[in-house]
Amino acid sequence: MDKNIGNTRRDFIKSTGKAGLAAGLSMTVLPALAEKYAGQEKVEGWIEDVPYEQQPLGYSYAALEPAIDAMTMEIHYGKHAAAYAKNLAEAVKAEGVDIQKEKLVSLLGRISKFSPKMRNNGGGHYNHEFFWKSMRAAAENNQPTGELAATIIRDFGSFDAFKTQFTDAGKNRFGSGWAWLVLNKEGKLVVGSTPNQDNPLMDISELKGTPLLGLDVWEHAYYLKYQNRRPDYITAWWKLVNWEVVSKRFGK
Ligand code: MN
Repeated sequence: MDKNIGNTRRDFIKSTGKAGLAAGLSMTVLPALAEKYAGQEKVEGWIEDVPYEQQPLGYSYAALEPAIDAMTMEIHYGKHAAAYAKNLAEAVKAEGVDIQKEKLVSLLGRISKFSPKMRNNGGGHYNHEFFWKSMRAAAENNQPTGELAATIIRDFGSFDAFKTQFTDAGKNRFGSGWAWLVLNKEGKLVVGSTPNQDNPLMDISELKGTPLLGLDVWEHAYYLKYQNRRPDYITAWWKLVNWEVVSKRFGK
């Protein structure tokens, strides 16, 4: 169940090991380098750089308890999200996308030119990769700091007003979908939601901009623990938001 712990670090060592050795670095130095760059690798550039393949979760299935239970995480990551990634791989192959040349974020920007399978699974894969990295173990009084906090106050009036607006976007999204905090073209923070697996990067989306934070409000994200009580899931989820990651996305 905890198979994902440490995978990021192992992958880092695997992917950089050759170059590291070529540069004369010994294997004893590499783990230290991996520690040093692990944080950066997880955050920097990754709004643009979400790969086409499912990535290691980065924490255990139980890490988000009690807000999100381990069983939900196991099924959500291991079945639902894994299926989006698998179906996306089929779609890019069938529809002639050169994944070496085109980034997923660019594909999403012209998603109207592709099949519903590409739209559902391209969005599904991207949104989940984005979602996993937006969370970490629960913290009390969990709030953003610095420039992001100041900009939230500028654009929403207060952190609580933002939270209410975002919570309402999630609560009121009929059926399945996502709630988002987005930086729009005018440099303003806005809150909204998208249906199904659509996201604000898609050309077909009503809500457009750079996503900073997303919340999965599909029943599969909460049903085992919360059944029909989506608002309770959202209330608990606020403690999990990794504001450092959101700030770094904003800072770019
Ligand atoms: Mn989901």
